[in-house]
Amino acid sequence: MLQTKIKQTLRDVADFPKPGIVFKDITPVLKDAALCAEITEALALQLKDVKIDVVAGIESRGFLFGLALAQALKVPFVPIRKAGKLPYKTIQQAYELEYGSAILEVHEDAFTAGQNVLIHDDLLATGGTVVAASKLVNQLQANVAAYSFLISLDFLNGKQKLADFSKHTFSLVSY
Ligand code: IMP
Repeated sequence: MLQTKIKQTLRDVADFPKPGIVFKDITPVLKDAALCAEITEALALQLKDVKIDVVAGIESRGFLFGLALAQALKVPFVPIRKAGKLPYKTIQQAYELEYGSAILEVHEDAFTAGQNVLIHDDLLATGGTVVAASKLVNQLQANVAAYSFLISLDFLNGKQKLADFSKHTFSLVSY
């Protein structure tokens, strides 16, 4: 079963990036080409009943399956990046981290008004990152159609924060 295979292939790294955090490392998954193909297909299948005009992936691990998913759905891909990385004119959204804050950016012509945007990232933890991404989508008068993750850490209750933006949150594996 795909869920079992993903869980068996993911690597838990203790005390990264800080003591006490157990980091889910997806790099062993990326080394398995057949598994990556299955993951892309499964992510696309979860979205078959949702109208999606564009996939937005979040830097940096959200780019990996984000573009593959956009290709599978035959829609455009948009990168959402940390501040200062995108070359053209951008809009910004600040968000809180456990210590301090950060800024996400997207090109000002990334979405058009009324577009249905799928937000994709590798992992949902507290939800802070994708809430900031959702506000960028809304700043450009586009809608968050759904969220898609490889992994969701359900014990952190991130999904509740996303309900304000979309009723569809999908993940392939959860903990
Ligand atoms: P959130 O904003 O708390 O939901 O954190 C999610 C963001 O942090 C995503 O962009 C993830 O890529 C990253 N992240 C947090 N924990 C992990 C992890 O254990 N493995 C991989 N990425 C993580």
